[in-house]
Amino acid sequence: MVELDAVSKIYPGGVAALSGVSLTIDRGELVGIVGPSGSGKSTMLHLIGTLDRPSSGTVRINGYDVAALTDRELSALRSRTIGFVFQQFHLAAGVPALDNVADGLLYAGVGLAERRRRAAGALHRVGLGHRLDHEPHELSGGERQRVAIARAVIGDPPLLLTDEPTGNLDSASGASVMALLGDLHAGGTTVVIITHDRDIAAGLPRQIEMRDGKVLEAATWQP
Ligand code: ADP
Ligand code: MG
Repeated sequence: MVELDAVSKIYPGGVAALSGVSLTIDRGELVGIVGPSGSGKSTMLHLIGTLDRPSSGTVRINGYDVAALTDRELSALRSRTIGFVFQQFHLAAGVPALDNVADGLLYAGVGLAERRRRAAGALHRVGLGHRLDHEPHELSGGERQRVAIARAVIGDPPLLLTDEPTGNLDSASGASVMALLGDLHAGGTTVVIITHDRDIAAGLPRQIEMRDGKVLEAATWQP
């Protein structure tokens, strides 16, 4: 699903955020990316998510070499293949949960009625069938993140990338978000979770440890 080969990222100004990272994530894996602040976790997620291109090395997503695609082909690949969830939820204020989720299909060429029908289904699946009309400020943090997850997966992407999805949540809401991500993984989605929470990471079948822009151990499988 994801293949990084000797990937480096140097930001303008000269910060080497990633240095020669090679990594494979197979279809159907549930992977944690752990490491201290500044170690390059978000940079790596942006590259895997094709939101940014590497300075050198090769990024392959679902078999496609990102460097060989035009911006237009890349955004098509992204919208078909990848869902994103961030720490800050990124929901539109003043917009009901139903339409926040329906917007996840804006670029898929689906009409509004069908988008809303599917959004209602997605919200039911994340346990928010009773909150369709609620705006973000009328939802708890955990509920907001579940809306964001519903939006990310409404198009059934095979790959879900999450950057500190529980970072703004209390431990009970965080646990329910982790359970939901586990359900998506059980349903076949490849799920990548950045976290600096050691307890959360310890519960995942594979952990990728990062330090100073490098991957320390690429595959720590637990029984
Ligand atoms: P993490 O997510 O592990 O905290 P990041 O990938 O966000 O780490 O950052 C890695 C390094 O790259 C840090 O030193 C950070 O300051 C730097 N960095 C991140 N984004 C940018 C950017 N857009 N421009 C310049 N430097 C950046
Ligand atoms: Mg980060």
